[in-house]
Amino acid sequence: MNLLRNKEKNYTQLASVNCTDISAYNGKMLSALTLIGGLLMLLPVLATPFSKTKTDAIPAYLLAATLFFILFFIFKISVIKIYALGGLYICFSIFFALAIYLSVIHTPNMRATILLGAFCIMPLGFIDRPVRMNLFVAFWLAVHTILAFYLKPLYALDDTINCLCFAILGCFIGNIMVWVRLEGYEVHRLLTSEKETDVLTGLFNRRKLFETLATLETISAEKPSGILMIDIDHFKEFNDNHGHSTGDNCLSRLGEAFTIFTQNFRLHFYRYGGEEFVAMAYGYSEEELLSIAESLRIAVQSADINGHRTTVSIGVAYCGDEQVRNYENIIDRADKAAYDAKRAGRNNVCMYPNEILVK
Ligand code: GH3
Ligand code: MG
Ligand code: MG
Repeated sequence: MNLLRNKEKNYTQLASVNCTDISAYNGKMLSALTLIGGLLMLLPVLATPFSKTKTDAIPAYLLAATLFFILFFIFKISVIKIYALGGLYICFSIFFALAIYLSVIHTPNMRATILLGAFCIMPLGFIDRPVRMNLFVAFWLAVHTILAFYLKPLYALDDTINCLCFAILGCFIGNIMVWVRLEGYEVHRLLTSEKETDVLTGLFNRRKLFETLATLETISAEKPSGILMIDIDHFKEFNDNHGHSTGDNCLSRLGEAFTIFTQNFRLHFYRYGGEEFVAMAYGYSEEELLSIAESLRIAVQSADINGHRTTVSIGVAYCGDEQVRNYENIIDRADKAAYDAKRAGRNNVCMYPNEILVK
């Protein structure tokens, strides 16, 4: 029981950090399964001239095909897309209902065939809590068993045993596949995060900054309304006075302070160079940007770094209404403003072009 609870907890943790990948996978599966399902349901219709049994079941096949196509189109709507998981359970419910109908009501004098496939395929079809997927299979197994013993007593026991075998195999392999996919997503997430993160500060690194700049060239990307260039004052002196490792510690503490800042403001911080940081700001006016930069300056000034203090000079470049082709130019402007802030005595905020905020 404890093992099951731990597994469930592990699943919740892994699924929540990889929810985007999981949703994308489930969305793709729903789209493919409903489309393929709808088309496959039309095959028996084509077989009607050659098969009497298929002819009698045409309404059921057509109904299933219609439902699959409706699901396919409904889940193309963006507000509904996010419920793909629910769509997948509906999709497989249609499949199970059809398979049970064909086995128990339509051809009670034959052993189940499609139903065995349904029990095998469903647990492999998408990613969800293994417990919920297994319960779903158990539910349809129970529905089939009850109906079979009532309506198809001759083959009920055989069908139930066969279905049970396929359901167990399906759930066993399906559950393993869920974990394999989850672990794959997790490895990918960790590698991406490692590739994009600066080890010392925990902020995005320079590589990620340039990746972000490249994506800004695409039309759909949200554009920043301004960029801040943040440079620690007299950091060489700080290192000389307190030692390089205290300097490292200072960078790491500033990283933490910036991260806390991102909880209240739409800022993305990047370590640009040794003791220089770039922050991309989203959705702020020029005045708001200046006031945020000032709050940042004060936050750094007040931060306790193992008994030491440090200050930063901040250059602000606003580009809210501008059609920007290359955001590296905006970084250059923020850099120039930071240089002006240094010249104005450090521990300053300066706006491009050359407006020093009076402390
Ligand atoms: P200014 O106020 O003009 O910015 O002076 P500054 O001393 O901060 O500027 P300068 O560019 O002369 O020196 C930057 C220093 O930052 C030099 C280097 O030793 C230090 N530094 C850069 N990266 C690291 C790092 O990862 N760890 C530590 N401890 N120091 C670093
Ligand atoms: Mg510098
Ligand atoms: Mg400096």
